[in-house]
Amino acid sequence: MASSRSDGWDASVTSLGMDRPDVPEYSAFADQLREQVSGDVQFDEYTQILYATDGSIYQARPAGVVLPKSVEDVKATISLAAEHDIPVLPRGAGSSLGGQTVGRGCVVLDFTKYMDDIVEIDPDEQLAKVQPGLVQDHLDATLAEYGLKFAPDPASSNRATVVGGIGNNSTGAHSVRYGISDAYTEELQVILPNGEPIHTREVVLDSEEYNEIIEADDFEANLYTTVRELVENNQDEIDDKYPSLKRSVSGYNLQKVIYENEDGEEVINLSKLFVGAEGTLGVIVEATVSLVTKPDETALALYCFTDLIDALKAVPEALDYPVSAVELMDDEVFRLARESEGYAKFAEPIPKDAAAALMLEWDNELVPPEDGEDGQRAAFKNAVADTNAHFVDEGDAFDVIEAYSDEDQADLWKLRKAAIPLLMGLQGDPKPYPFIEDATVPPEELAEYVQKFEDVLDDHGTSAAYFAHAGSGTLHIRPILNLKEDEGIQKMHSITDDVTDLVIEHHGAFSGEHGDGMARTEFNPKMYGDQLWEAFKVLKTTFDPNWLMNPGNVVYRDGPEDHGPDNDRGVGADNRENLRYGAAYQSIEPTAELDFEDEGGFSHLVELCNGCGTCRQTDSDVMCPTYRASKEEIQTTRGRANMLRAAISGEIPYEEIHSDRFQKEVLDLCVGCKGCKSDCPTGVDMAKLKAEVKHEHHREEGSSLRSKIFGNIDKYSALGSKLAPISNIGPKLPGARLVMEKTLGIARDRQLPTFKRQTLEKWFDSRGGSTVSEAEADAKVMLFPDTFTNYSYPEPGKAAVEVLEAANIHVQIPGDLAPSGRAAFSMGYLDSVREHAETNVEKLAPMVDDGWSIVFVEPSDAVMFQDEYLDILDGEDVQKVSAAAYGVLEYMDAGRVDEDISFDAPGETLTYHGHCNQKATNKDHHAVGVLRRAGYSVDPLDSSCCGMAGSFGYEAEHYELSKAIGQILFDQVEESDGDAVTAPGASCRSQLGDRPGEENPPHPIEKVAEALN
Ligand SMILES: Cc1cc2nc3c(=O)[nH]c(=O)nc-3n(C[C@H](O)[C@H](O)[C@H](O)COP(=O)(O)OP(=O)(O)OC[C@H]3O[C@@H](n4cnc5c(N)ncnc54)[C@H](O)[C@@H]3O)c2cc1C
Ligand code: SF4
Ligand code: SF4
Repeated sequence: MASSRSDGWDASVTSLGMDRPDVPEYSAFADQLREQVSGDVQFDEYTQILYATDGSIYQARPAGVVLPKSVEDVKATISLAAEHDIPVLPRGAGSSLGGQTVGRGCVVLDFTKYMDDIVEIDPDEQLAKVQPGLVQDHLDATLAEYGLKFAPDPASSNRATVVGGIGNNSTGAHSVRYGISDAYTEELQVILPNGEPIHTREVVLDSEEYNEIIEADDFEANLYTTVRELVENNQDEIDDKYPSLKRSVSGYNLQKVIYENEDGEEVINLSKLFVGAEGTLGVIVEATVSLVTKPDETALALYCFTDLIDALKAVPEALDYPVSAVELMDDEVFRLARESEGYAKFAEPIPKDAAAALMLEWDNELVPPEDGEDGQRAAFKNAVADTNAHFVDEGDAFDVIEAYSDEDQADLWKLRKAAIPLLMGLQGDPKPYPFIEDATVPPEELAEYVQKFEDVLDDHGTSAAYFAHAGSGTLHIRPILNLKEDEGIQKMHSITDDVTDLVIEHHGAFSGEHGDGMARTEFNPKMYGDQLWEAFKVLKTTFDPNWLMNPGNVVYRDGPEDHGPDNDRGVGADNRENLRYGAAYQSIEPTAELDFEDEGGFSHLVELCNGCGTCRQTDSDVMCPTYRASKEEIQTTRGRANMLRAAISGEIPYEEIHSDRFQKEVLDLCVGCKGCKSDCPTGVDMAKLKAEVKHEHHREEGSSLRSKIFGNIDKYSALGSKLAPISNIGPKLPGARLVMEKTLGIARDRQLPTFKRQTLEKWFDSRGGSTVSEAEADAKVMLFPDTFTNYSYPEPGKAAVEVLEAANIHVQIPGDLAPSGRAAFSMGYLDSVREHAETNVEKLAPMVDDGWSIVFVEPSDAVMFQDEYLDILDGEDVQKVSAAAYGVLEYMDAGRVDEDISFDAPGETLTYHGHCNQKATNKDHHAVGVLRRAGYSVDPLDSSCCGMAGSFGYEAEHYELSKAIGQILFDQVEESDGDAVTAPGASCRSQLGDRPGEENPPHPIEKVAEALN
């Protein structure tokens, strides 16, 4: 047995909330909760807004949120909620697409902050016991050590919880091989709506154990007898109405609760009923799930067709082969990928005339290795040869792309998984919305079903892109509609209705993956017929007599007299209600200083957040460092976007944006790392939004002395350098740091940069400029003297000069440029940014015409020129200056400048922490390339922001959060095999230098200089 904390996070570090006044309506309930619950209790308006949406098209404000720390907290919350007649809604990452994780007036139980542990792993029995907030990828990362995995693999597994997946009966691309969550949910600990615990597990019918339960004649006994009766009395209807498909997740799992176990005994297992119940029957506080062995190797083949229907017709044939996945993409997905900067490279191998492609996967368990060296590869090749013969030689496919290496396979999967983000990033109000996006039919009926489906779309004057877990018959299709107009809303309802009929006609499941929620519950009576619909209501009322658990999902009441309580809770369902947008939705478009044209405007950029929750993932990429350290919804990009949307749409007064609380909690806690610009699937660029709002705030309300100092750090640094070394003494005087904290809010524990009397510019002049003459040089470079390098850390600048000259490049360091404007941008002083940008562009554009490149040591300044300048200035000059700007290692790598240099690197392995701004602009890999060619082994960390983020880490109120974010990086450095760490960002180096006993590590250009022969 093993038990482990999945991510080493310490919950005590970061709760940064200001005073959060409860919404008066709920303050008595909240006060009582606080007396009884040890976790966090949040019943303020911001919290209501943050939890009013999920990954769906719906929105409904809850009463408040409890972040429980224990099962006792859950019991207390449920019991108190019952006393106050307040519904309860359990929630994981809130990545659901049907609207089942939003509920008007509910108390939300969010398990992801505190109850997110692996309780136990039993590798011999292939079982894992988990808390409800555990993210699936965290479980799988631990299971990999045992060669095991949790089989259902939703695409959202990097933030979705195992138990949220149980709530929805989730599954993923490998359902062809493994089926869905209910097959792996063995036992549960559940708190029932009456506050009582129940341990659900396999109980042999009429056994001693069973009889003991029944004879207790209590609430639990009633559950067992009612469920048994419901199944036995409705067996014919169950056989008739539940589709016999691998994936069918709507309604209650009456077809799976009584079954024959491995020993041939007839058992009842109430766990199976909680799977897919969407939190409507009770709250799971611990789940025991069964595991499968993890295949070591896989291979992929992508078959290209000139016709979508031909591709669909090939699906059942593909299932005759030993495949672990059969996925479909259409040409709309390829087109969008080709047009997207981030995904174009993945679409490159796809032939232009491919109208659709089927992707088949094999694994080493289904295709065992052959004898001899590289027997696994040979076995895969033979398997692929069989399908090539069938689909290409004898079938309708005209081409095949085979992928055996991990990298090639990962690229194809990235293309497949890009479908949703690419579609959701479409500009304008008509969007591909999820509401019938997981309807499923038997694979052999897919082709005919799709033909009829297209008729439905035609009838409604809309279109859609197709991608599918084709092997299981699940078609992910999102019709393009404008849900800000009544016409679009009515069409949505009518399409849902028509598609239900179509699914029934084709013996399919209305939901094969994402569950019912607000989108599909209305149509369950049609799907299951009157008799089973009645059974659902009896079932719900037996578990939850007052319909307090997530009411209105899976099942609804026809009126106050229909089952349940004498009120209207859970009455009716209409998928046109509670929409996030809707015909009445309006948003204001603030007058913006930055150019938001590419994003369709400020408000459109805010509205691009669809709630998918990717910004809650914590294991790779950059987004979102503040959430990683705090695990608070308000510190996700989604949280910030939701708050901004509330302000621009009038849900809260727009002026609220300028309140202390909004500024401090929503905006100031965004470190401006730009991670979301690239990592958010729809590109919600919060750093840009924040700069714009901060700018408006300064204009309306003025700004603090500290903001002014940090925004003008170049001026103060120049002065500090002139006065050095005296200027460096001040902060070291006894008590000086405390005074700075009290007066300016600069964290007393943070080491401030020291100023150098000899700036980089002075050093360069003192050596007589470049040692390579312009006439003899192969190229010429303006080395930008950024504030940190020039006044405080000139060594990387000197190293850059040395290395560039070693490559026969003429270097100049201009003394008459303005600062880049990065500091002013991050504080929201956009007037200064514009001024600086204008000066620099005016001076540099003629030089660029004359063949100069502009090179930066400090990544954030490079990205300022490359990216933000294009948002603040128009015209050809800024375009060309921006295009001529490079980070120093990017410059060397892109032009292979270093290939002319002779290196003799010590046999050292470097741990490389890239800068978040460069990661966000896909420029981060260059340093690794150059370091490797210089002779180093490099371990590039998949790290996020370091937590300093310019001034953020110096600000007293952000110090703890900054350290907590830094600790995540420190742990990664610790785990790396590198002999030394290197980082291009000055802030990152100073954060890393704050590790006990460590000094600031070098910039990678210093390591390259060290390796010069
Ligand atoms: C881009 C994207 C891709 C997706 N891909 C897939 C996919 O491939 N396959 C798939 O199946 N789904 C997919 N989904 C839907 C969703 O992510 C999954 O269903 C996921 O498993 C839900 O996990 P969660 O932690 O977000 O749960 P939540 O959304 O928070 O909750 C899901 C349901 O479980 C209930 N629940 C949560 N915790 C408990 C508890 N403790 N006790 C009782 N009930 C509880 C909730 O009330 C809710 O009804 C996708 C979503 C997005 C946005
Ligand atoms: S900000 Fe981006 S990643 Fe986060 S929920 Fe919104 S769309 Fe998804
Ligand atoms: S800029 Fe960075 S900190 Fe801010 S929301 Fe985006 S990812 Fe999070």
